[in-house]
Amino acid sequence: MTRVLLVGPPGAGKGTQAVALSERLAVPHISTGDLFRTHVGNETPLGQEAKRYMDAGELVPDSVTNEMVRERLEEPDAKAGFLLDGFPRNTKQADELGDMLAAQNMQLDAVIELKVSEDQLVERLLARGRSDDTEDVIRRRQQVYREETAPLLEYYANILVTVDGVGEVDEVSQRVVDGLGTQS
Ligand code: AMP
Repeated sequence: MTRVLLVGPPGAGKGTQAVALSERLAVPHISTGDLFRTHVGNETPLGQEAKRYMDAGELVPDSVTNEMVRERLEEPDAKAGFLLDGFPRNTKQADELGDMLAAQNMQLDAVIELKVSEDQLVERLLARGRSDDTEDVIRRRQQVYREETAPLLEYYANILVTVDGVGEVDEVSQRVVDGLGTQS
């Protein structure tokens, strides 16, 4: 069970869980948000393009995002497995990911949904204090999640593992590991 995708609304704790889980599962953590933030920090052309969308809480265009992920998945450390965090964010990206993996005779093993109530989400995001965590941008990201990303739960229904995302980090990662165990 080594090719895993984490899905959940902004503030569900995907990033934190992804770090803990990639250690437990011994696979690289691939976060498109982190990849974009590295590009922004290094002021690369891709970063300059992505920043406009990130600052507005919008999705970076699929063409840019897909190519960045394709390159990352071609790196040797991703061959034995990976934990994807923040990609795909819509069903078009999911189709693209399916093609990328199929080209290497691979497929996703499981999709983990981290479930957290709306109230908890806003509370967590405001506490995080990232530069794209102003209230307007948070609201827009939640809306984008509902409209664009939530359909992935249906898309991946046959490999979906839903986990309660409320609790201590270790407690939640244990639920995920247990969920993966019952899935295989
Ligand atoms: P995250 O760190 O996952 O919350 O992502 C931060 C921002 O990066 C998002 O609000 C989007 O602007 C952008 N982003 C991250 N992943 C994707 C993706 N798969 N597709 C498009 N934009 C993305």
